[in-house]
Amino acid sequence: MTVAVPKALSSVDPATLEPVGTVEVTPPEAIAELVSESRLVQRRWAESTHAERRALLVRVAHRLLDSADELAGTITAETGKPLLESYVAELFLALEQLRWTGANAEKVLGGERVQLTQPYLRHKRGRLLYEPYGAVAVVSPWNFPFGIPFTQTIAAVAAGNAVIVKPSELAPLTGAWVQRAFEEAGAPAGLVRVVQGDASTGEQLVRSRGIAKVFFTGSSAAGRKVAVVAGERLCPVSLELGGKDAMLVFDDADLDRAVEGALWGSFSNCGQTCASVERIYVARGLYQPFVEELGRRAGRLRIGRGSDFSTELGPLISEQQRVKVEGLVSQAVDEGAAAVTGGARPDVGLPGWFYEPTVLTGVGGDAALMREEIFGPVVAVASFADEQEAVQLANDSPYGLSASVWTRDRERAARVAAGLHAGTVWTNDVQYSYAAGQAPWGGYKESGFGRTHSKHGLYECTQVKFTDWDSGRVAVPWWYPYGEDLLDGFRGLTGVLYGSGLSERAQAAWRHRRGLLALGRRYLERG
Ligand code: NAD
Repeated sequence: MTVAVPKALSSVDPATLEPVGTVEVTPPEAIAELVSESRLVQRRWAESTHAERRALLVRVAHRLLDSADELAGTITAETGKPLLESYVAELFLALEQLRWTGANAEKVLGGERVQLTQPYLRHKRGRLLYEPYGAVAVVSPWNFPFGIPFTQTIAAVAAGNAVIVKPSELAPLTGAWVQRAFEEAGAPAGLVRVVQGDASTGEQLVRSRGIAKVFFTGSSAAGRKVAVVAGERLCPVSLELGGKDAMLVFDDADLDRAVEGALWGSFSNCGQTCASVERIYVARGLYQPFVEELGRRAGRLRIGRGSDFSTELGPLISEQQRVKVEGLVSQAVDEGAAAVTGGARPDVGLPGWFYEPTVLTGVGGDAALMREEIFGPVVAVASFADEQEAVQLANDSPYGLSASVWTRDRERAARVAAGLHAGTVWTNDVQYSYAAGQAPWGGYKESGFGRTHSKHGLYECTQVKFTDWDSGRVAVPWWYPYGEDLLDGFRGLTGVLYGSGLSERAQAAWRHRRGLLALGRRYLERG
């Protein structure tokens, strides 16, 4: 049975439910052809110099700056997020990653000398080359529909790859901007292209034999499927998946700052951030004032359309998402949790998918709300007795994307950070490092594997090749012919090089002197 593929995708403003726009779905039969074209374009791009790639990134940055208002407006229309968040968490970070990658890609990927220090290899001149994969796929979600695919594309292009982006079906107009920004900046035709469609388009792209690597960002459930499909053809994947971030507030923390951080970390982007604070653990002595303040300030957040400058909390992305959030909250309440604030649909005079910022207490450690990613404006607060319990509670999750530690004690911060199973741990702050070029991004456990951003993200866009120069004038002692002398020589060499202590090494040299002499002769005869 063949399933009919829709010909167009329309996005909807989740605040007003008005249509935003429509794009054509890429026909399934066109994908193989697009992938082969990308491979051809990539072969030429791989020969470009780092200076040429840098110049392209500079032109792309100019293009983005020229269209900043239009692009931010599209992001807000398709996702409902406040305009300020479209600027800060999408455009601003995209420009920062352009700047950082332009300034550093050559330093990171320009090749590296490798010194071989073994006495029998010292004459060789080793070198690492970082070579692009070819045509790579970037499959991305709707919650940062520009920032995520765009920053991954920048790194891939700077490393010499061609990129095919499959943006989220919920924000296709925003996704189209990734291609547009590169095209209008004069990138070679087809170097960066966008294919539009839903999960089936994404899956078809991942299946395409010409795709040499997949960068997937999305839910852990979809990431698992992507890994299986890519695994069938042994295509490497980088997976940036869900999170259930913990915030640990110690008794010496600045209460006011911790509450402000919790507020923004839990409710910005309507809580629909992979690194949203979803679990807060507070030292017993600070628990009561923390909960009261957080509840009071959460209740005062201004809910509305993202395009209104004063809006602090937009809607959820879809009715389906709202139903999921409501289900998790009501299940937790049925099991004994209490809402300090929120827990219902607010009346904002708009038909969209709004939900109140919600602070819960008394949620059991095994409750679905404590274990599953909520992806909504809901946070659970619980207390801990000591540092050990705090770390244990934070680590008791299938996810390990990021976490934060709130304390004035630097040593404690370092100790706790070392004990947390997460790809990023911040102190007295949240989320900011996604925008810092130097900081790698990625998770532990079911939050995925591989890294984007930073030098590690650039390495992920390449295959590392070891090369060397050997004049061919130095003998290779382990080549044929074999014989007893050679074996004795290697016994001696093993003891001399790896024996512990001078006397053990000297004994090995004496015991195997005949073999070592034979080895020496091999070098001299050929040298
Ligand atoms: P999703 O997994 O439903 O979809 C993500 C993208 O993958 C979409 O473009 C979708 O069409 C495509 N897709 C879905 N199934 C696929 C399949 N089987 N094969 C190929 N492509 C497929 O996620 P979403 O709802 O768009 O985004 C929310 C999720 O993304 C959350 O779980 C969030 O934590 C995660 N996320 C993670 C990060 C990170 O950096 N770790 C960043 C943002 C979002």
